[in-house]
Amino acid sequence: MRMRARPPAVVLALTLALGCSPEGERLPDAAVELLDITGDHCAGLPRSGYAELERVPVSDDWFEVYRVETGVYALYEPFQFQEVISYLVLGDEAALLFDTGMGIGSISGVVDELTALPVTVLNSHTHMDHVGGNAEFSRVLAMDTEFTRERARGRPNRLVRSEVAPSALCRPLPEDVTEDTYHTRSFVVTQYIRDGHVIDLGGRRLEVLAVPGHTPDAIALLDREAGFLWTGDSFYEGPIWLFAPETDLDAYETSMRRLAALSADLTTVFPAHNTPVAAPDGLPRLVEALERVRSGEMAGSVSGPGVEYSFDDFSLLLRAGTR
Ligand SMILES: [Zn+2]
Repeated sequence: MRMRARPPAVVLALTLALGCSPEGERLPDAAVELLDITGDHCAGLPRSGYAELERVPVSDDWFEVYRVETGVYALYEPFQFQEVISYLVLGDEAALLFDTGMGIGSISGVVDELTALPVTVLNSHTHMDHVGGNAEFSRVLAMDTEFTRERARGRPNRLVRSEVAPSALCRPLPEDVTEDTYHTRSFVVTQYIRDGHVIDLGGRRLEVLAVPGHTPDAIALLDREAGFLWTGDSFYEGPIWLFAPETDLDAYETSMRRLAALSADLTTVFPAHNTPVAAPDGLPRLVEALERVRSGEMAGSVSGPGVEYSFDDFSLLLRAGTR
């Protein structure tokens, strides 16, 4: 499988420049967002995984929408290098929007075209590429963590402008977005939730699983009856980013074991980047890979912001000096 990337195209210039302090203090959260995107991430589009999926036409061409299961839409942003995927999940009485993308196109407009049901937002975690459209919605659930509260304040232009620089894009920005004005809007959380929270959409129940690691507020979403698991950034096709200062590898390993333990009962995994449908057996394979990396058995290679450890159909990208 061709592994085209978020990261090989990316150098985290400032993160590297700052390095870790001798006391091992965390890097400023801001550092990881100052991306210097140098590679050609557009050459591999469209990804092959999309050929078999059912495309749903919407009027905002910043997004591509795919019906990946009955009542499950993937809202994909292919023209920005993160290739983030948000999901709209429909029940009989309500809908859940799991992530809101970059905030470049108007995701609420797309959602309005797909459903008339009342929509609640919940984020897989609160990195800027997943909360960009939160401000467009009046009902937002969020994990009850300090990290979440801080991220709900948004991110100013200086921290996120590189996300919309020409080198980060495969087509022009929508007319009302520019490199000088783009920012992550703050949003209001209407309800804080914790591990085990159940969202009842009517005929479909979604369980919130806290899976801290990638960030302190990372979650997965489980539809036990259907065997669907939404993994956010904990698992996706491509290099999995584990180099941010807020990433905790011990917590990540524990969380991935929790998800891998579910894999035998799953039919489909829906990740938050690159390709929207993955096989559940990737979860135990990821745990195995993580064990090999963390035991020192694997050699990695320097890549962009860290060290990359490559496996058959994914890789792990860790901060140099960590495992
Ligand atoms: Zn992400």
